[in-house]
Amino acid sequence: MLLSCPASDLHIKSCQRARTVYLPPRLNIINTLKRNCREGIKTKIGVIGLQGAVSEHLDAVKRAMEKLGIRGEAIWVGNSEQLVGVDGVIIPGGESTTIGKLMQRTGTFERVKELAKSGVPILGTCAGLIVLAKLGGEHVVQTGQPLLELMDIAVIRNAFGRQRESFEADLEIPLLGEKPFRCVFIRAPAVSEVWGDVEILAKFHEKIVGARQRNMLAVAFHPELTPDTRLHEYFLKMCQKVDSRLSNK
Ligand code: GLN
Repeated sequence: MLLSCPASDLHIKSCQRARTVYLPPRLNIINTLKRNCREGIKTKIGVIGLQGAVSEHLDAVKRAMEKLGIRGEAIWVGNSEQLVGVDGVIIPGGESTTIGKLMQRTGTFERVKELAKSGVPILGTCAGLIVLAKLGGEHVVQTGQPLLELMDIAVIRNAFGRQRESFEADLEIPLLGEKPFRCVFIRAPAVSEVWGDVEILAKFHEKIVGARQRNMLAVAFHPELTPDTRLHEYFLKMCQKVDSRLSNK
């Protein structure tokens, strides 16, 4: 029965042994994946679908779920009711001013804030990273664009300048393993400052382009635009019911 669920094959023996003694975070997640598979629990990821690279994220989540053997779905979220029961939320790239304003108009702004505070994992990519920030640079202050103020980070919009509006780079992101991750930057922001318990995950030319704080993950690039699903896989592991909230610390 367990063979139909690829995640269940992972380290099954060591998990069983470990359960009685000590459960390191990774094994916790593997156990949760196995249990969810066994019990037919589905993982539901909501992608805020008001503007920007939405379908690409829906597709990337699907690919990552297949890879991990997770049963579940990614749904297009246009209003706050659609966020009921989600195990994780993705705020995509696009135009952060528009995304923030439309989130306010649709009630998803407040709802995402509540979900994040209750421990539901949130992934923000590019414009999504900006929306997650507590502080914006001059540009953000000038336009008065709404920020969720969830992560202890300050951001600069369009940090890589006009002449370099779009580029790709292979970056080392230890969180995702040894193999460099191809990062697509499109009029990308950068994190100018972090505080609190924020961990820096990736840098490009001394600029911070990836950060994590408890249940929140933010990157300045577009992981949904490459075939590499490692970042979405990592996020999905964060979203595995209950146990992941513990192992995510
Ligand atoms: N420059 C955009 C902004 O400030 C972000 C670009 C993107 O998401 N690709 O909102």
